[in-house]
Amino acid sequence: MNERISLSCCDTKMDGFSLENSDNEPPPVSNEEEPPPVSSCEDEEPPQGLKTYQENVEFLKQYFNASDEDWNDWHWQVKNRITKLDKLSEIMDLSPLERLSSTGNLPFGITPYYASLVLSSNNIRKCMVPTISETIVSAEEETDPLSEQEQSPIMGIVHRYPDRCLFLVTDFCSANCRYCTRSRMVGQNNLKKGIRKIMWQNAIKWIANHPEIRDVLVSGGDPLTLSDENIEFILKGLREIPHVEVIRIGTKVPAVLPQRITKNLVRMLKKYHPLYMSLHFTHPEELTEETVKACSMLADAGIPLGSQTVLLKDINDDVEIMKPLMTGLMKARVKPYYIYQCDLIPGSRHFRTPVSKGLEIIKGLRGHISGYAVPSYIIDAPHGGGKIPMLPEYYQGRDENGIYLKNYEGKPIFYPEPKTIFED
Ligand code: SF4
Repeated sequence: MNERISLSCCDTKMDGFSLENSDNEPPPVSNEEEPPPVSSCEDEEPPQGLKTYQENVEFLKQYFNASDEDWNDWHWQVKNRITKLDKLSEIMDLSPLERLSSTGNLPFGITPYYASLVLSSNNIRKCMVPTISETIVSAEEETDPLSEQEQSPIMGIVHRYPDRCLFLVTDFCSANCRYCTRSRMVGQNNLKKGIRKIMWQNAIKWIANHPEIRDVLVSGGDPLTLSDENIEFILKGLREIPHVEVIRIGTKVPAVLPQRITKNLVRMLKKYHPLYMSLHFTHPEELTEETVKACSMLADAGIPLGSQTVLLKDINDDVEIMKPLMTGLMKARVKPYYIYQCDLIPGSRHFRTPVSKGLEIIKGLRGHISGYAVPSYIIDAPHGGGKIPMLPEYYQGRDENGIYLKNYEGKPIFYPEPKTIFED
C-alpha cells in the first residue's frame, strides 16, 4: 500500500479501523473451517522447503484438498489463508526463532498461493513468517512512524502533500508483510461492514470539498481485496469529482494473490482512467508466471504500473538481487518506481539496513541496467516529513567554469557550465 505504499502498499492513519466482509468478499479469516490436512501431512515429515515453487503448489493443493478451480479462485485463496503458526507448522518446519515468535502484535496471514513461495524461498519466508526478533523494540521505533494520524483530517484520509491525498479504504490484506508500515491498523478488523460505506462516502465528500486535491492514492490495507462492486463504488465516487484528475491504487495483490486480477475486475477498472497502480514487490522470486500474467492483464487494460520495494536486510539488500527484480519488473511491464528505506515500526530493526546499503544498490543499478529500470531510493521521513530522495554522490563540486562529477564507473567528469556570449 502512501503516497507510498510503503510497505504498505498501503498507507494510513486510522487505528480503530477495520474491515468486515461485503456480500461478495471472502471472509478475511476463516480458519475455523479450514479443510482438514490430507493424511500425508499428519503422517509424514513436513517438507523441508526449498523445493521448487511448482512442486510446492502441487503439495499445497493436495494439503488443502483443492482443485485447480479452487486454487485459481481468489475467494478460495482468501478463505483458506493460513493465519496461525500452528497451521503453518503443518506445512513447514519452523526454525527455533520462528517457534519462539508470537503473532500477537503484527497480524499474520499468508494466502495458499503465496505460501508456495514461502516454502520455496527463504527470502520470501522472512517477509511473512514472524520471528522473535519482532519483539525487540528499539528506541527510535514508533507505531505510527510517519505520523499519519496527525495528518488525517477525517477517517480514511491522510493529507500530507498539497495536491494529493491517501484514501485508506480497508485494513485488510490477503498476506501480511512483517515490515508493514501500517501494522498498527492492518489486520485489526475494526472497520465493520455497517460503517465502511459511510466512511468511504464521508472521505469522498471530503475530497470533493477540497479542490486542491487532483490525485488520490487509494490504499489500505489492500484495496484489491474488496469486491468488484465495492471497488467500483469508490472509483465512481472519485471519478465524479471534477478536480480529481488521477486515481492511483496501491496493492500487493499481483504478488500475493494474482488470481484476484480477473477479466471482470480489469473490465471495470478500465472505465476509470486515468488510473495508475503502484504494486509492491520485494524479490525477483515473486515474479511467477501467475504474477506476470496478472500484471499483463492490468497493463493490457491501459493501467500504467509502477513498483515499490522496501529495502530489507538479508532479503533484498544486494545489487545482484535488485538487478533481476528491476529488470524482471520491466519485462512484466511494471516500471520500477521506488526503493524505500524500511520504516521505523516497532520490531523492525532486523529488517533495516544502513542507508549506505541503499546508496550502494542505486550505484550498482545506475548505468548498469537501463535508466528506465532504476527506481528512486527514498527515505520516508519520520514524523511526516515526506519522501526524501537519496542519491549516491555523483556531484563532486563546482568552480567558476563548471561542475565536477563522477560517472557510474567512478570516473571523474568535468561538465562546463554555460557562459553568456559576452563572457566568451
Ligand atoms: S501488509 Fe498489506 S499494507 Fe502492509 S505492506 Fe504488506 S501488502 Fe502493504
